[in-house]
This record gives sequence, structure tokens and C-alpha cells, in this order.
Amino acid sequence: MSHLVEANLRTVRRQMELACQASGRQIEDVQLLLATKTVPLEKLQMAIQAGETLFGENKAQELRDKFPLMQQYDQVEWHFIGHLQTNKVKDVVKYVTLIHSVDRLKLGQALHHQLVKANKTMDILVQINTSYEESKFGAPPEAVLELVEQLSQFETLNVKGLMTIGKLNATNDETRHCFRLLKSIQTQIREKQFPRVEMSVLSMGMSGDFQVAIEEGATLIRVGTSVFGPRYLPDSYYWNENMRQDE
Ligand SMILES: *Cc1c(COP(=O)(O)O)cnc(C)c1O
Repeated sequence: MSHLVEANLRTVRRQMELACQASGRQIEDVQLLLATKTVPLEKLQMAIQAGETLFGENKAQELRDKFPLMQQYDQVEWHFIGHLQTNKVKDVVKYVTLIHSVDRLKLGQALHHQLVKANKTMDILVQINTSYEESKFGAPPEAVLELVEQLSQFETLNVKGLMTIGKLNATNDETRHCFRLLKSIQTQIREKQFPRVEMSVLSMGMSGDFQVAIEEGATLIRVGTSVFGPRYLPDSYYWNENMRQDE
């Protein structure tokens, strides 16, 4: 059991290397984030023992529960990768170094408000719905330039790049299309040279499609199942469309 996480990690790291080789990229240019929703502490500790340091949570409550238990490992860093409700920003800005899921102005405003109070700044990614699936969060690709420009007005927010969830249960070509779209939006935004908008991070690729994402330029992949095994809750619980966007 304890060897399973370690063995899975070796496999994923090896697959990352191969995808880098196949696309002429350097392995140092791709970060591995472990998606830890529903994953028990013991498995996180196994990942830490295997040398992993970057973890991502989807819900403020789970982050709040896990954060103190992991604080003893001082190399550990948390990102927030799930849908973020405006009434949860206070907790999240306390614990994480990067928020991947900023997808609307109202959330930017709530973050700014909280960060001013806390006298902090925060690195963020703008999440884009590149697959146009209703069941996923993220700004529509057509709205992103305007959103990034609006977010760049908040001096507490550093827009470091973009995040997407590729089309699920799709062919390689369909997911590749999502990742290429994200890359092309990155290029468009860079040309605008907005203040505090750096656009160096492309967070894309999960267990089923991270090799394709690396080939298409991902600088950060988010992997859960391939390392920790299947989850007991369906992903719709985390990505649910029925949640009101601004609760
Ligand atoms: C769960 C999750 C992942 C990891 O998904 P797997 O398919 O288990 O690798 C990546 N990104 C986000 C936003 C997630 O919610």
C-alpha cells in the first residue's frame, strides 16, 4: 500500500520525462501538482516522503482541514484549483500561494477586497473553459481578454497565467485542441502587456491527458487519480454546474 503512491509517482514522473523528450522540452520547465481532493493524509505523507512538495485542493473546507496537518513539512506548498465561491476567499488566501481558478470579475473583486484587508498580494491564474462544456467552470475564451484587463486593475493580484480543464473522455485531438486554444490565448494576452500580468504559467493536463498537455506547452500539470488511485466521490461533486456561481 505505502509503495503504491511511490510507484505511481515514479511512473508519472517517467511519463512526464518522455513527453518532454518527445516535444523537445526540459523537465525542469514542467511542475507536477498533486490534486488531493478526498485523498487521506497518509497518502499525502507518502507523496511527501517520495519528494513531492506541491499540492492542490478544490474546496476551502478540505484545505482548512488538511493545511494544519501538513504544516510540519515546511517545504509543502498549496495551490487552490477548485471553483472558488466569493464567501470562501478569506480562508483560501490564508493558505495558498497560487489560485488557479479565477474566472470572473466578481471573484477578483472579492479577492482584492480581502487581500487589501490582509495587506497581502496573491498570484492567480485565470481559468478558461476551453471545451465549452457547461459542466465546467471557467471564463468563455471570448471573454478572457476583457477579464484579464479588468483583473489587472487590482494591484493586489498578479496574473501569472492561465488554467484549463481539457475536454474529458475525449479523443487526444479534442483535448489537444483545448490546450492549443489556451496557448493561443496566452500569446494574445502577452501582446497586450497589461500591468502585473506575466502569463508564464500554463496549468493544463490531468491524469488522462497530461502527456498531450506537456506536448502543447503546459508548465504545470495537475494529477490526482494516477498517483492516489480512484476517488470515492464523483468529480461532478467538485465541478458542479448546479452550484450558483457567486454563492
Ligand atoms: C481533480 C482535479 C484534477 C486531477 O484530476 P485526475 O484526473 O484525478 O488527475 C486536476 N485539476 C482539477 C481542477 C481537479 O479538480
